[in-house]
Amino acid sequence: MRLIFLGPPGAGKGTQAKTLADHWQIPHISTGDILRQALKDLTPLGIKAKGYMDKGELVPDQLVQDMVEERLTQPDTKLGWILDGFPRTVKQASFLEGLLERLDQAGEKVVNLDVPDEVVVGRLLERGRKDDAEDVIRRRLEVYRSQTTPLIDHYRDRQKLVMVNGNQSPEEVTDNLKKVIHS
Ligand code: ADP
Repeated sequence: MRLIFLGPPGAGKGTQAKTLADHWQIPHISTGDILRQALKDLTPLGIKAKGYMDKGELVPDQLVQDMVEERLTQPDTKLGWILDGFPRTVKQASFLEGLLERLDQAGEKVVNLDVPDEVVVGRLLERGRKDDAEDVIRRRLEVYRSQTTPLIDHYRDRQKLVMVNGNQSPEEVTDNLKKVIHS
């Protein structure tokens, strides 16, 4: 089971990825979580990433790619994984494709969690994470639209994409996800 979650900030990627990773007993790999932990620990990676994250900008591809490569070469990823927050650019997607081939881990599915903008802004304001101030949220959405939505077509063209309506209760979304992933 190798799954990639796409969707705007606030779509529920983290919640769903965590639920399914527990269910299938595979690691949930969230680049946002790894970066926030690095920031908390004041590692060189965290210190480099901070300015971008505070502004709602993407951290440079190379930094995130190195991080993902390191994580995906750990032994607990052999039976599968769920990637949440990566890839976020076409460049990251190409990198991942090469990496998975090298690691003999191809055959991933990509889920797009579809949620209207006005709904995600409401959810993020409620969540109140440190980078969830309204102007930063708006910027993250802009960045998502310009940098990450091209991945929807990218994966559709490669017949890896499944679409799920994220604008339902978390339980309904989980049920839909289990259905489309097994079909
Ligand atoms: P959300 O999807 O709710 O906006 P994440 O937790 O996935 O939040 O990411 C938080 C921040 O971490 C992003 O705004 C970005 O600065 C950085 N980040 C996470 N993943 C990536 C990535 N794949 N490429 C570049 N930056 C990333």
